[in-house]
This record gives sequence, C-alpha cells and structure tokens, in this order.
Amino acid sequence: MNLDGRTALVTGASRGIGRAVALALAKTGANVVINYVSNARAGQKVAGEAERAGARVLLFQADVSRPEEAAELVQAGVDEFGRLDILVNNAGITRDNLLMRMQDEDWDAVLNVNLKGAFNTTRAALRYMLKARYGRIINISSIIGLRGNAGQANYAAAKAGLIGLTKSVAREIGSRNITVNAVAPGFILTEMTDKLPQEVRERMISEIPLGRFGTPEDVAALITFLASEAAGYITGQVIAVDGGMAI
Ligand code: NAD
Repeated sequence: MNLDGRTALVTGASRGIGRAVALALAKTGANVVINYVSNARAGQKVAGEAERAGARVLLFQADVSRPEEAAELVQAGVDEFGRLDILVNNAGITRDNLLMRMQDEDWDAVLNVNLKGAFNTTRAALRYMLKARYGRIINISSIIGLRGNAGQANYAAAKAGLIGLTKSVAREIGSRNITVNAVAPGFILTEMTDKLPQEVRERMISEIPLGRFGTPEDVAALITFLASEAAGYITGQVIAVDGGMAI
C-alpha cells in the first residue's frame, strides 16, 4: 500500500487508536493533519513521531463537536497541503451510566462528539472531495453500535448513528468516487478501556474467540487498507476488528 501524495486528517489523534492511525498513514506515505482537542503536549509528541516516519504534518487544535471548529480544521488541512483525500472520524468519548441515571449532559456530550462531530467534519471535507472526485471517509464506530451495551445507551446510539451516517453518505456520493466505510472495533487496549473494572475485562476476554484484547495497531491496519487505492470498490460497509467478539 502506498499513500504517497495523499493527505489524511485524523480527529482525536493525540492518543489511542487515533494516534496509531495517524502514524500508520504517515508510514504509508500520507501527509497527516493531526487533530487534538485539549492535550497539546500529547499532540506534539504524535506529530514528532509522524514527522520522523517521513510525513509532512499539521497539528491542529479543534473540538469537532463545534461545527465552526470542525470547518476550520478541514480548511487548515487544505490550506497546508492543497488537498484532502482521507478523513478518519476517530474522536470519541464515553459518559457511561444506566439509562435511568443518565443526565441530559451525558447524552448530549456523547452524541455531540461521537456522532455530530463526524457530521461536522464530513460536511466540511466533502466540499473538497466532491471537487476532486476522490475521497476516503472512515468512521470509527464500535461493536457496541451493533450489539448495544447496558450502561452505554448514549454511546451505542451514537455509534449506531455513525453506521446510518456511513451508509447514507456512501449512497449520496458514491458516483463521485468517494467511499465511506465504518470500522467497528471490539475491545481495544487504550486509555478509554483502561478505566473498566477488572471483572468486566475478564468477562469480555472470555467472549473473544482470538483470546486477546486488540491493539490500536490492529485497528490502524484495517483503516490504512480502507484509505488506500486497493479498497476503491468497498463502500457503505461496517467492518469489525474485534477478535471475533461479535460473531
Ligand atoms: P481515547 O479516549 O484514547 O481517544 C479518543 C480521542 O478523541 C482522544 O484523543 C480525545 O482527546 C479525542 N477527543 C475527544 N473529544 C474530542 C473532541 N470534541 N474533538 C476532538 N477530539 C476529541 O479512546 P480510543 O480508545 O483511542 O478511541 C478512539 C475511537 O475508537 C473512539 O471513537 C472510540 O469510541 C472508538 N472505539 C474504541 C474502542 C476501544 O476498545 N478502545 C472500541 C470501539 C470503538
């Protein structure tokens, strides 16, 4: 796979899966726009790693849940590199609670970042992709969006919503040579899953046919493929990277 000359924007790329995706795309030859929301130091570290991998890099602070900031992020990438070929909507948060105890703010925050954030960046990026008649949009959903999960109604609704967004936009813009796919990770070892109690982790591993948790690099490998020319006839799909957990 070779992404030489392509420009990729990865949201929430200062750690976890987003970091691994930005680095994998950089190693494959793409210029990368690395978005972070609050941790500038972590963002700078990832930007340095991507540069050492040979990429041209733009580090850009933006809260993707805010439409104007998402638009500025996309515009900054286009201004820097003259194009935008690949958009990876990775930014996400959790605010878990049982539904009866869930506060309005927990619902709104998760929907605003995980679902509206992807809408905001996709709408902004499509302006350029439609003109270029080329694009690869990859949304990070979750197997929770397929299966649901007690205590995560807000997260599951947002991740299921991303699947609907993926399929609808894939239909809308397929004729312009732009593909839109969703990736559904299972249990991936990151700061997001670090906070889960030991008994939940043990129960989850017993449900994984491959017998291990995933790594951010497991997810990044699929995203690199979906971002490449080789995946040009794949659109509107939801592909799990979950060790078989959702079989
Ligand atoms: P993480 O918490 O380590 O990373 C999430 C990133 O998103 C962070 O860098 C955070 O700063 C960023 N972010 C949060 N709000 C943002 C905003 N408003 N604007 C821009 N960036 C923002 O988590 P992760 O495990 O690396 O998760 C990455 C994505 O993968 C998320 O969408 C998550 O829901 C999804 N996912 C993770 C798992 C898992 O097991 N870790 C499983 C399925 C799906």
